[in-house]
Amino acid sequence: MKIFIVLCSLFALGFSKRLFHNDQVLRVHPTEGQRDLLEKLPETFPAIDFWAGPRGSGPVDIYVPRAFVGPVKVYLNRHRINNEIFVEDLQKNIDNERSPRPEQMDLASFDYNVYHTLDEIQQWIDDITASYSIATKVHEGFSYEGREFHAIKLSKGGFAKPAFVINCGLHSREWVNPATCMYAVKYFVEATTGSEESSILDDIDVYVTPISNPDGYVYTWTDDRMWRKTRSVNNKVCIGVDPNRNWDANWSGPGASASSCNDLYYGPSVMSEIEVQSQANFVASIPNVKAYIDIHAYSQYWMFPYGYTYTHADDYDMLNVIASDSAAAIQSVHGMTYQHGPISTVIYESSGSSADYFYDKQGIKCSFAAELRDTGRYGFTLPERFIQPTAEETFAGLKVISNYVAVGACS
Ligand code: ZN
Repeated sequence: MKIFIVLCSLFALGFSKRLFHNDQVLRVHPTEGQRDLLEKLPETFPAIDFWAGPRGSGPVDIYVPRAFVGPVKVYLNRHRINNEIFVEDLQKNIDNERSPRPEQMDLASFDYNVYHTLDEIQQWIDDITASYSIATKVHEGFSYEGREFHAIKLSKGGFAKPAFVINCGLHSREWVNPATCMYAVKYFVEATTGSEESSILDDIDVYVTPISNPDGYVYTWTDDRMWRKTRSVNNKVCIGVDPNRNWDANWSGPGASASSCNDLYYGPSVMSEIEVQSQANFVASIPNVKAYIDIHAYSQYWMFPYGYTYTHADDYDMLNVIASDSAAAIQSVHGMTYQHGPISTVIYESSGSSADYFYDKQGIKCSFAAELRDTGRYGFTLPERFIQPTAEETFAGLKVISNYVAVGACS
């Protein structure tokens, strides 16, 4: 009987998890005219997923499940669209992303260079805010499945100092983002007197949210490593909404999908997602927010509004200077190149994004969206050895924004 129960548990565990054996990522180099053809590809192959492109000027990364690899290649070759296999076997990448380790529930031995479960991250938030007086745990909101999530307020005191809000983990499969946000908190709390980090906190308050889509994040650990959306049930065919197409910023416009099964689904109504509402209300409740950044991965971009239009934002010149300085600071750390510019120019038109919303609707002048490492070699399955360098260079970019806030450039 015992054996039967164990077998049943293993069955439940083993077969609930989505596997990606021999699924591939194709890197495609289309001519300008061929991008329209690529955009139509999901009509024939709904199971594919664009991880980069097809809009914009760069190469296009297409995730293709094993069963469709052959037919998709035939389609591409028939239309003479230049393509190569970029990831040969996605499951191998997932298997190589992290190594087995015991659960980490202790701040003293906490390893920042591994990916953490939601439970571990929540424990870490409790521990770090209990250990450092400048760090406070702040309630941000609840998820669809009822999980509470938090920000960490970093402040040396004073009333309504200019604030910089840093958000991570809106798209759940982008694991390097929460890891980077946690590193940013570590750098601030461990800063020595007289250091740049310490003097930033003399002038401004910083709020860091490591995980803003906790349901999706848990799901990437338990069921589907490539889950991007929320987990809301909308009486539609498929579950979840893209939480970065759901904001009140030209909602349901270009670069978002009306199909609930699409990873870019904009949702049943504007701001329908409780995670999105929570974050909007949370930021609105902070007095004097001058800067916001939503951190994503991958592609190595440092961007600003607008996403939903090619029209320049009123603050384009200033935002472009800050983004350019950030990209230079990032490059100075490990030599990585980050493109900078408006979201619509750097990637493609995308409506309903957080950076546009906070810029337009909450009047936060210095509003940014970043895409961290890499440029596609590992994509969402960036191995753990890259967490620290990614965090180090990202923090250099975040300090640039912080310093602009401190001198009043974003007011
Ligand atoms: Zn993202």
